[in-house]
Amino acid sequence: MPDFDLPSEEDLSALQAQTASVVTHPDLPLDDEGHIRGIAVPINDLVILPQIIMPFFLPADDPLLTLLQAAQQRDENVILVFAKGEGADSSLASIGVEAAIGDLLSLHDGNYACLMQGRRRVRLGALGKDAHDPLFIDGTPVTENFEYNEATADLIRAVQEDFALYAEYDQVVQPEIVDLIASAEDPAYISDMIITTLAPPYDEWLTYAEETDPVARLQRIRHTLKTAQNMLELKDSIDARVQAEMNRNQREFYLREQLRVIQKELGETDIWTQDANELKKRIAEADLPDHVRAAARKEADRLAQMPPMAPETGIIRTYLDWLLELPWTKRTEDNLDVKHAAEVLDEAHHGLKKPKERILEYIAVRSLKPDSYRQPILCFVGPPGTGKTSLGKSIARALGREFVRVSLGGVRDEAEIRGHRRTYIGAMPGRIIQTIRRAGTANPLFMLDEIDKLGHDFRGDPASALLEVLDPEQNNAFSDHYLELAFDLSQVMFITTANSLDNIPDALLDRMEVIDFSGYIEEEKLAIARKFLIPRQMKENGIADLKVSISEGALKRVIREYTYEAGVRNLERTIGKLCRKIARAKAEEKPYPQQITAPMLEKLLGPPNYHEPETEKEDQVGLAMGLAWTEYGGEVMPVEVAVYDGKGNVQMTGQLGEVMQESVQAALSYLKTRAAALDIPMEVFDRMDIHIHLPEAAIPKDGPSAGITLCTALTSALTGRPVRHDLAMSGEITLRGRVLPVGGLREKILAAYRHGCKMVLIPHRNQKDIQDLPAAVKKSLKIQPVKHMDEVLALALGAEAVIAPPRPKKEESE
Ligand code: ADP
Repeated sequence: MPDFDLPSEEDLSALQAQTASVVTHPDLPLDDEGHIRGIAVPINDLVILPQIIMPFFLPADDPLLTLLQAAQQRDENVILVFAKGEGADSSLASIGVEAAIGDLLSLHDGNYACLMQGRRRVRLGALGKDAHDPLFIDGTPVTENFEYNEATADLIRAVQEDFALYAEYDQVVQPEIVDLIASAEDPAYISDMIITTLAPPYDEWLTYAEETDPVARLQRIRHTLKTAQNMLELKDSIDARVQAEMNRNQREFYLREQLRVIQKELGETDIWTQDANELKKRIAEADLPDHVRAAARKEADRLAQMPPMAPETGIIRTYLDWLLELPWTKRTEDNLDVKHAAEVLDEAHHGLKKPKERILEYIAVRSLKPDSYRQPILCFVGPPGTGKTSLGKSIARALGREFVRVSLGGVRDEAEIRGHRRTYIGAMPGRIIQTIRRAGTANPLFMLDEIDKLGHDFRGDPASALLEVLDPEQNNAFSDHYLELAFDLSQVMFITTANSLDNIPDALLDRMEVIDFSGYIEEEKLAIARKFLIPRQMKENGIADLKVSISEGALKRVIREYTYEAGVRNLERTIGKLCRKIARAKAEEKPYPQQITAPMLEKLLGPPNYHEPETEKEDQVGLAMGLAWTEYGGEVMPVEVAVYDGKGNVQMTGQLGEVMQESVQAALSYLKTRAAALDIPMEVFDRMDIHIHLPEAAIPKDGPSAGITLCTALTSALTGRPVRHDLAMSGEITLRGRVLPVGGLREKILAAYRHGCKMVLIPHRNQKDIQDLPAAVKKSLKIQPVKHMDEVLALALGAEAVIAPPRPKKEESE
């Protein structure tokens, strides 16, 4: 920088007189695309930031003079562009600053000066010569977004305090500036003003121009302030120490002493430099894409410039660890041999025909069209314990991919998927990136469990972040807030799992191909237990060599009385328990049975948890069997109705949801329209009370599918005709008695089968759902489609009343 005499009072007041015209000068106009264009003024020794007003001095022969004059003639702001690096390496910073300029004044020492005010940061575009010589540059003004929240407010306060403290050490800072900063509120202004006041070395100053997030600037300023303050303190203490030891006023001694103290300070830095060099070596050797390596280098450089004890060093190190450990480019080769895949899938799973077929199709297509094929996103839906996870693992094994899973149950915060920005204390990448690191490859089979249990609240909607994860158009550059670098997820094979489709956001569901995993029937459970669960549990519990067997009867009893579920998870657990009992007996050298039979179970497992299905042994009046669907599979749901003298009230107990209460009303209305045909006098509805009860009151029940069951129980109670005890049903009812289709029918039918029913009534339009029921179910359960309530009543009710139908007492006056 050329030397200038101090400007005279006169010059200064002439410059100051420009302030009003500079401050009010209009910004460069935006064109249709939001760009601006202005004369480029290159600078390489100081940085003028937005809102900052500064005098700008130039020697008489400075080539910038012509540029500034040209701008003045056009009466336009200029765009300051900053040089970066030196010599052959030099380039332009990507961010410039639009600045308004005042008149060029010639100073008393023969040099020139003008007043400048920074206006806004500008992301620089093309540089080009215009017809009239000066260099013009295009740019897009940067909007400096930041989130104003409690953390930001705290940060601002902290910076204000730090600055005030710093100003006490550095007497150069004018008190007005301290006041200005103390009363300012805008983080963009505060940060730019403080940096200008500190006027750090040009390179560092420039990094502040390039940081467009004001909050991030404030974070860094804290650190810069601390360093600056440390330097001042250090200088003070060196002076003080030297002073104390300097008793003979010898210049030589003074210098040597000073050198010693400085070296001591440098000594620490040396270990530090060594450490930083090692990091750089790791970065150079790691297998990283270019953009990641560049970012890692930048961070390592920042680290090297920091004092070792700076609080930020830990944060940067952790970040660098993440960059170095993530499998940016590491992939496994897919094994696309369909025959091998089929073997692997069959090896560990009984049945599951459809899911297996779909997977093999996928592998076949991939092997024919290896590159262009998009990863399908499969969604495995079904009750717990139906093999979703374990099939996923087998697919990974068949393909030769790593398998990882993450549960989304209860995730309500977008940051759990996408991570926290590094400026948060204890920030970490989100679960997706964490899991990828665990996988160790960029193309694992990635299972996202419980996608139907995602929550959302004020902290943002995790589903929308997931959309980005699963969208093949976007996921090749997935952005995690912590990493701030795009990660390519496009080679990942995602499989999601859910117990129910109901709670999956539609936008997510659209992207996925649903594959149903329905519950198993007893025959299937027996086969799975024999082929897989028993051998596995025996092996895991170390009794595989003992040749202990479990009898058919015992296994059936475990299924029916000790576990009651759609899947086989508890079954496996219970088998494990049996194995442990044997293992313990063996270890204690006590006798143990060679075969576990049904009667032994009580001794080994305690009393059963569930009893043989309680089908009523006889037909009952006012009791009909409905079917419900839950996330754990199907359930039978009895409906009881009692009728007694009263005033026409209807009472409902057993936690009926709103929709179900409406079904009750619909069923009643239908009954009233059919009262004559059913021989029910209308006065029953006015002069008697009806009580509808759904036992197991602790379980909330809702949905329209109990309509025909409610109507059947009501009719039975009002006519005295019994309901067939071995019959269950499910269907919605309309006011005119039509039977409408319902959901979850397959699971419901399996529940009826488990319960020992002989017949189920299903809505006619649900017939498509029963096509691939296991043969055993179709054989022992008559599945009867019905269209109208009249059919239901004809099939479900006995022809004659077995008890006298309830009728109101004759009124006294009659
Ligand atoms: P989900 O993920 O559906 O809740 P899991 O995959 O965890 O269920 O299955 C629970 C257990 O049952 C696992 O040990 C699994 O191997 C076993 N299992 C489930 N279905 C089958 C099947 N069709 N064949 C063999 N084992 C099965």
